[in-house]
Amino acid sequence: MEQKQFKAESKRLLDIMINSIYTHKEIFLRELISNASDAIDKLYFKSLTDESVGMKRDDFEILIEADKDKNTLTIRDNGIGMTEEELENNLGTIAQSGSLAFKTDNELGDESQIIGQFGVGFYSAFMVAKEVTVRTKAFGSDKAYEWKSAGVDGYTIDECDKQDVGTEIILTLKDDTDDEKYSKYLDQYQIQSLVKKYSDYIRFPIKTEVEHQHYDDDGNPTEVHREIKTINSMVPLWKKNKSELTDDDYNSFYADKFGDFYPPAAHIHTHNEGAATYDALLFIPSKTPFDYYSKDFEKGLQLYSSGVMIMEKCEDLLPDYFSFVRGLVDSEDLSLNISRELLQHDRQVKLIAKTLEKTIKNELTKMLKNDREKYEEFYSNFGLQFKFGIYQSFGANRDILKDLLLFHSSFSDKKTTLEEYVSRMKEGQENIFYACGDSIARIEKLPQTELVKDKGYEILYFTDEVDEFAIKVLIDYDGKKFKSVSDSDLDLETKEEKEESKKQTESCKDMFGFMKDVLGDKVKEVRLSSRLKSAPVCLSSNGALSMDMEKVLNAMPQNADKQVKAEKALELNGSHPIFEKLKALYESDKDMLTKYTKLLYSQALLIEGISIEDPVELSNMICDLMV
Ligand code: ADP
Repeated sequence: MEQKQFKAESKRLLDIMINSIYTHKEIFLRELISNASDAIDKLYFKSLTDESVGMKRDDFEILIEADKDKNTLTIRDNGIGMTEEELENNLGTIAQSGSLAFKTDNELGDESQIIGQFGVGFYSAFMVAKEVTVRTKAFGSDKAYEWKSAGVDGYTIDECDKQDVGTEIILTLKDDTDDEKYSKYLDQYQIQSLVKKYSDYIRFPIKTEVEHQHYDDDGNPTEVHREIKTINSMVPLWKKNKSELTDDDYNSFYADKFGDFYPPAAHIHTHNEGAATYDALLFIPSKTPFDYYSKDFEKGLQLYSSGVMIMEKCEDLLPDYFSFVRGLVDSEDLSLNISRELLQHDRQVKLIAKTLEKTIKNELTKMLKNDREKYEEFYSNFGLQFKFGIYQSFGANRDILKDLLLFHSSFSDKKTTLEEYVSRMKEGQENIFYACGDSIARIEKLPQTELVKDKGYEILYFTDEVDEFAIKVLIDYDGKKFKSVSDSDLDLETKEEKEESKKQTESCKDMFGFMKDVLGDKVKEVRLSSRLKSAPVCLSSNGALSMDMEKVLNAMPQNADKQVKAEKALELNGSHPIFEKLKALYESDKDMLTKYTKLLYSQALLIEGISIEDPVELSNMICDLMV
């Protein structure tokens, strides 16, 4: 028989499992039972439309067998089983194994994180077993196969003898050590209490053999009576009464069902009647899944029809901006043999999705109002998605999302909602001001922000690339328009100031014209600034495309050969000493003014975080001035 190697990443994970000092080793049982239950779900679902399955609801079960003589624990199910190929694919590699490759060994240090993050299911068996044997026969196949592995050295797959469809996992437990008594997992009370603790709501019976010691009248033990007993209560959690359930119940259900080690940030348990009748159990994760912002991430909720799982991930139940939600929906209104394609057009699914969307929004709003700290933590995990949501829908979802947004602002270190910003607006303030940049520190240093702040206006700080795009789609909030501090028409001056700058502009018209000619089509205009306080120069933008949007769009690989250009103006600070110098040069030394103009333009670009076209020229000009 041929020994096969695990895929590299699987091997590393396996290694972690085998040498795990993880304190919750007992979860292996929960993982294996869940796999068994999923496999039964699949076959039960099939049996409803395919008579050849030949099984009724009551026939399905999970059996746990402890053999103290052989030191083995067996978990047996009569679910769908695995073909040889599935054995190879499912147990020789980890589904998302690639992701492990991203992690350095250092990051792998915290094993509990690994165990949580990857939902390592089956592999957790190696935390307690020195050898694992999987014997399985797939529905519809006439051959059975045995997969065997004693750890990192690899595994074998061979044909074997197995009459019934289904899977049995045989764990040969590790030897007891001083610290760890693996043999306890063969104890019937231990098994019962673990099943109660983690798998009580599993919808199929979990059975095990229990022993009853009988005694005679004098209290002496007589015979031992054995019987197979169902040890879980089998009522699905979401069908239970909310008042009977504790946070622990929800948390362990979540951990089990979704393989997330971290307890959820919040859960929502609702029963809805009316246009759509359903039970839903939803969870908001407390950590961002490692692949959340990648294209591999699949959103969706498990879909049940009257207790039968009909789909593992029904994406139509969740809008993209709530794609982080995990959970399930159970509805009587759905037909069992509905196909994926039909589902998309199913009126019932749409109705459920609409109602769920409101429910999720309400839950988040509640969190925002009642537990700001938790909401901010949540927002740092998933808030980006809301901004994409607004942008991608061209604003169609603005009303659902606009009050869930948070931004940094000049008001304080804490993030603010738009509602809070508006409530702080000065009398007569028409606009919601914002500034863009790579970081808060950088934005705070932007010359354009100085005067706006000085006049007592709060500025929102946009540090995500999508921010300005989203806000452009939002257009306004509560009737207040969004305005970039770099926009050409900031309109911050008093009447007198306007008069004054008009005069100054008039008197320097020719110089501005000269400077504009020096810069050519790099700028649309050179003009006197109404926004600068202490800085000598800045850029401002006219029109719909801002400089920051230009930066973002031009950095996208798909735009490599169709670069966009924002309409820029070079603005000069009329009360800066350099301005007087420029005026003098215009009269006496036009060559020098040409240099100064180029220098000032380069400076403005640098301040803005835009790379300059010719750094060598800039460097040479500076040297010229220095010598
Ligand atoms: P997950 O359950 O998160 O997908 P696992 O490592 O626990 O990851 O299992 C990998 C795959 O192996 C499962 O998705 C399933 O297809 C298959 N599998 C595991 N246990 C069983 C079982 N008892 N019966 C049928 N298939 C199983």
